[in-house]
Amino acid sequence: MQAGNGATSRNFSLGIDGFTFHDLFQPARLAALDQAFRAQVKARDAALSARFESYRAGASLSPVEESNLLVDVAPQLGDFVGELFRVQAQRDKLFARAADERALGRVRAFVMRRCARLKKDEKAEPLGATRGILSFISAALGLGAIAGDEELSSLRLVAAASELEEALAASVRAAKPVPLTDAQKQNLKKLREAAKGHAWFAGADSDEALAKAVALRCELWLKSCLHTEEGRQATRGWSTLKIPQPMNYDKLVHSIKPDPAFPQKHYGPEEHLRRRDGFKLTDKRYSEREVGYEVDYCILCHDRDKDSCSKGLKDASGFKSNKVGISLEGCPLEEKISEMHALRRQGDSIGALALICIDNPMCPGTGHRICNDCMKSCIYQTQDPVNIPQAETGALIDVLRMDFGVEIFGLLTRFNPLNRKRPYALPYNGLKTLVVGMGPAGYTLSHHLMNEGFGVAAIDGLKIEPPPADITGHDGKGIRAIKRYEEIEQELDKRIFTGFGGVSEYGITVRWDKNFLYLLQITLMRRDALALFGGTRFGGTVSIDDAWELGFDHIAIATGAGKPTIINIKNNLCRGIRKASDFLMALQLTGASKRDNLSNLQVRLPALVIGGGLTGIDTATELLAYYPVQVEKHIERYETLCRENGKTSVDSWLQGEDKEILAEFQDHFAEIKAERERAATAGE
Ligand code: SF4
Repeated sequence: MQAGNGATSRNFSLGIDGFTFHDLFQPARLAALDQAFRAQVKARDAALSARFESYRAGASLSPVEESNLLVDVAPQLGDFVGELFRVQAQRDKLFARAADERALGRVRAFVMRRCARLKKDEKAEPLGATRGILSFISAALGLGAIAGDEELSSLRLVAAASELEEALAASVRAAKPVPLTDAQKQNLKKLREAAKGHAWFAGADSDEALAKAVALRCELWLKSCLHTEEGRQATRGWSTLKIPQPMNYDKLVHSIKPDPAFPQKHYGPEEHLRRRDGFKLTDKRYSEREVGYEVDYCILCHDRDKDSCSKGLKDASGFKSNKVGISLEGCPLEEKISEMHALRRQGDSIGALALICIDNPMCPGTGHRICNDCMKSCIYQTQDPVNIPQAETGALIDVLRMDFGVEIFGLLTRFNPLNRKRPYALPYNGLKTLVVGMGPAGYTLSHHLMNEGFGVAAIDGLKIEPPPADITGHDGKGIRAIKRYEEIEQELDKRIFTGFGGVSEYGITVRWDKNFLYLLQITLMRRDALALFGGTRFGGTVSIDDAWELGFDHIAIATGAGKPTIINIKNNLCRGIRKASDFLMALQLTGASKRDNLSNLQVRLPALVIGGGLTGIDTATELLAYYPVQVEKHIERYETLCRENGKTSVDSWLQGEDKEILAEFQDHFAEIKAERERAATAGE
């Protein structure tokens, strides 16, 4: 990229004339960027521009009109931002992915219509008897395998057959024949040629009969895949073949009870088990394909104002409740979920993220593993709902994985022409706010206050580690752009706890990707309007009187989620007993889970966890993950000390109970080592 006028290497020219990277942090330049975007929309689509300008000027629209307009304008914003950061080629790849997903969506619909259930007395044929249809279509149409993607390689053949069958059937049904596309005509010709003399297609003389016969063969193959053990094994992990299951509110968590004499004993199904070793991210989220499935499964209710995921499920008396009494109020932020799905379905993840950011600009702190009120209120109440949090996080990840993805996300928090209430951040208005607490409430409030032009001093009792000064521009040379998200992304078991994010940092286990917190911290700390102070307690380091004397106009208290839990049970602080929440916080905040950390969090097994809520479950899982780490750390250090000081000397330092614990850990260390060797041999 070339440097702009008066630019340094950090302040490079962007892909829209007249703008440099550092302009994206200046309110006045963001206002100019908004003008540039609107001018571009006008030049490209005058009718759309007229609708959009009227909306921005305050025109009152019905919810459906507003949704449709935003869905129409979002691709323009996707293009504009793509040009700004010169990532059009990467966007094109996402559009190509969307085309594949559309083909798979066609197969999903085919499966649901024809293959999900067998008819009475019907039996699926063995896989070997039906899969020949794939090689037939593949050879006929000249569609070879796609390396590393058997699902798409196979199912795109079904998609082609299904498309042809539907097109011909529609043409027959229509009053006037609907002509096939050139591609469909070509495919039909090739299939006709290949079918000559083939027993499967004997008698299929008309085009329609041939297309039907090919589709029927596909149906039989898919039934083998879904309804025979061999088929299920062969297509394991193919998300396209996932069949939504009925919702059973009496059994929301599937479990197995192995011992009828001991019905309290139960555990999860084998296929849901995930192997875990230590404190790396335990849930890698859905794959792009799985996200595509969810987005295709959504029926895009916004164009009927029925998007209950966003607005809640209502009847005449207000919000409905589900069978377990949960009020179905939808997303608390009323995020434009259905609209976002529409854009993600087109492959426009920047447009999708822009739609999310209208109502939820701090979206890295939400989504998968954080919240699911939207899912509970999805229109699908009697079968699996759309997994919206996965789709939301998936759209964010798509953008973050582009060049300058971090910058694109950051820009959309300060500049979003789709958000007519606050299309770009306002300049400083002279008023100063003290925000107390940097958890989700505090950082989100700080963001909105800054966008409204307030200066924010944010404090948190925890020590906050600053990001590298070049990334935030605190080295005085201007902000350095982050080209690849991987630059700031870390394995969770190596990551330094930055202290930012409050309960999201210390109260959530490694099932959630805490790199998102770092992304938010960087995004906010780059703002001139923010000063962030860790290790500063309100009421201690700074009192209310101090705050007024320091010249603050307003104090916002955003604390409380992490208050210590005092349980009213006698002797609850005696040796060997620890509050579950206290254990989890100690694990996170002391860094005990890290191999190179020295902390005094010692546990011995067996441990009894009392309580089956979220904290109890987290404690059980984290305890199991922590114990081997603790034992290995302990023994590795003991052995190092013995090497350096001699075993006799080291043993002489230990007292009675220390010796007992050491012996116990040595036994368990040997067992862990043997298990690691077994797992390595088994390739687990
Ligand atoms: S997520 Fe559910 S409620 Fe929301 S638009 Fe899609 S199908 Fe409708």
